[in-house]
Amino acid sequence: MTAIRLSVVVPCYNEEEGLKELHQRVTAVCRETMGFDYELVLINDGSKDSTWQQMCELSTLDPNIVAINLSRNHGHQLALSAGLQMCRGERVFVLDADLQDPPELLPKMMEKMDQGCEVVFGQRIKREGETAFKKASAHFFYRLLDRLVDIDIPTDTGDFRLMSRRAVELLNSMPEHHRFIRGMVSWIGLRQEALPYERAARFAGETKYPLSKMIKFAIDAITGFSVRPLRMASYFGIGFGVATLGLLLYVLIHYFTGNSVDGWTSLAVIMLALGSIQLFVAGVMGEYMGRLYMEAKGRPLFIIQEVYTSPATASSSQHVETAANE
Ligand code: UDP
Ligand code: MG
Repeated sequence: MTAIRLSVVVPCYNEEEGLKELHQRVTAVCRETMGFDYELVLINDGSKDSTWQQMCELSTLDPNIVAINLSRNHGHQLALSAGLQMCRGERVFVLDADLQDPPELLPKMMEKMDQGCEVVFGQRIKREGETAFKKASAHFFYRLLDRLVDIDIPTDTGDFRLMSRRAVELLNSMPEHHRFIRGMVSWIGLRQEALPYERAARFAGETKYPLSKMIKFAIDAITGFSVRPLRMASYFGIGFGVATLGLLLYVLIHYFTGNSVDGWTSLAVIMLALGSIQLFVAGVMGEYMGRLYMEAKGRPLFIIQEVYTSPATASSSQHVETAANE
């Protein structure tokens, strides 16, 4: 495999409206910075619209494009993992397809990397065109994560970053299925620096992260990097132990002063509270156990249906049934 200087990796799910614009802007900045020594790796994550057809059309015209079709929708983090596994660049630039993260920051990131960084990540100082709920939940989530995990995951970063081949290889060597890539990159360590930027609104279409996916993503992040929630059972146990002692004291005082305890309401409340806490703790344990089970199966992370490159380049549409951790 011949190495090239830069790979731009973009996972795409139903992004037909913005793909051409993405291609234009990425191509402009890459040509300016790298000449022709780059590849644009587009991953189609089982889109239901014409994203894949458009990718093939674009790559017929542009030999710098490598279009990868996954067998079905695998989710953002796995689609990105597929791209990271397949790309060949000495440096790898990760972008979202919706142009919320400006590709024009590439030269600045390259500059930082020239000074010896292994990872340069974009850090959002402002988010345009997103709902107040999305901004608030992201704000809360990154702070909660910071309190729960032991490694230092920078707040307000997405997957917008430039990575060295070394960092990408390290990332590719991690076999876990429930991937929270920005956390995994922090886990690697090495020299990493932030580049503050203002996040734009989506160029077209709407977010592919509805609330349900956001919650799943948040749970993956927390369970992937912290076992602290498992300890919650002990904390609840201690808390309720202390409360029980207080209650016992109350009951005894009433007993000796001859007052009957009017107990039904308080008993019912205590039982409900205990029941729900027990269920919650069992649920938390279940989350970890479920993940253990899924990981134990050792299935490949993603299945690639086909890879399409311009007929002008050596290998055109190859049908490969590649699995990830081979
Ligand atoms: N994406 C994907 N698979 C999915 C969901 C999203 O490949 O199942 C891609 C999507 O096309 C985009 C990126 O992941 O390039 C980020 O998604 P989005 O912009 O919808 O997320 P947001 O910016 O709203 O958090
Ligand atoms: Mg987006």
